[in-house]
Amino acid sequence: MRSISVLGATGSVGESAFDLLTRAGGADAWRTVALTGGTNVARLAEMARALRAEIAVTAWPEKLPELRAALAGSGVEAAAGAAAIAEAAARPADWTLSAIVGAAGLPPGLEVLARGGVLALANKETLVAAGPLVMSMARRTGATILPVDSEHSAVFQALNGESLDSVKHVTITASGGAFRDWPLERLARATVAEASCHPNWDMGQRITIDSASMFNKALEVIEAHEFFGIDAGRLRVLVHPQSIVHAMVTHCDGGCIAHLGAPDMRHAIGYALNWPERAALPVPALDLAALGSLTFAEPDEMRWPALRLAREVIAAGGAAGAVFNAAKEQALDDFIAGRIRFTDMAPAVEHALQRAAGQAGFAQSPADLEQVLAWDGLARHAAAQWRGAA
Ligand code: NAD
Ligand code: MG
Repeated sequence: MRSISVLGATGSVGESAFDLLTRAGGADAWRTVALTGGTNVARLAEMARALRAEIAVTAWPEKLPELRAALAGSGVEAAAGAAAIAEAAARPADWTLSAIVGAAGLPPGLEVLARGGVLALANKETLVAAGPLVMSMARRTGATILPVDSEHSAVFQALNGESLDSVKHVTITASGGAFRDWPLERLARATVAEASCHPNWDMGQRITIDSASMFNKALEVIEAHEFFGIDAGRLRVLVHPQSIVHAMVTHCDGGCIAHLGAPDMRHAIGYALNWPERAALPVPALDLAALGSLTFAEPDEMRWPALRLAREVIAAGGAAGAVFNAAKEQALDDFIAGRIRFTDMAPAVEHALQRAAGQAGFAQSPADLEQVLAWDGLARHAAAQWRGAA
């Protein structure tokens, strides 16, 4: 029986994974080691009971009594806090999904890599904040990273193990999010509720807002650069409102291999779960005749300045990814809390990058988690300060 762990089990990606695991036999088919979650401890306990997990961990210590009560008599161990999540991730499991949102996913992801495990990675922030550290640790321990972000799963499948040497460019698509067709002058007045609606994908609130600002695609461009080792000059983004083509690999011979599928995360999660094999998944096959047409356009960088910032981050290297990710998280917190406008997020992030670039050591990639967290703290502070300065 294969053993599995799911970090961030109660989120949007975590729920999709739970659906797949349950359909594929649940506790009779998988030995579940650890499930982790946040505030929704009732759901976490329900999942842990259903999969007969060894341990369930909430990120928040004040939620531990509630989690304990919900697990009473189940035999599932309960724990709380960031250190307990990292400890749970360090427990041996054949396959671990990281579906935590934000930089909080980095420490437990590193634990999985340190034990040489298979890390199915939805948490793109892990690679954005600490790409060189993460990839070198995986090489050192023999760990395997499987991309679960849909575009990266698509590139991985379209590349099919071929060398990057013969690749002319890699294109990832973007739906354009909630404000694709809004007049530019209206964006400054966009509300959190308006930014939290995605035309095609049903996802957590933070990534949904990041889709409207294209910060999500910016993170994904950096993620692709770090994971596949492809230079920024060969990485492209196309706006594709239907979200059917997820990525395309264009080869030097003019051929282009695209990956198409319904916008359903169960494909990418299920692909990583069954890799290197394929298994039937509860994802509807495409009916291209019913879809009729697929459209593509170049992204407008006036509307989505995050894409320009992503290229600058890749060009800068060093600590820029850690700074970019953390500053973006701060700016998003500030937008959600009503402290800044939707269009203030990119300038706040750019301000943080400029501040960090003046600091000693910026040109070097963080060598360990402590260094990543130091840049993370500096970036959040600088992004929040921009708000004060504005
Ligand atoms: P979500 O907000 O729905 O769920 C996040 C999960 O992380 C929840 O279980 C939550 O309890 C937990 N969590 C939140 N803060 C935490 C913290 N500080 N410490 C530990 N755990 C914490 O998010 P999501 O939409 O499922 O996205 C998860 C990750 O996957 C993100 O990195 C996102 O960018 C990526 N991703 C999501 C999708 C999608 O379809 N939702 C697609 C591609 C990539
Ligand atoms: Mg994606």
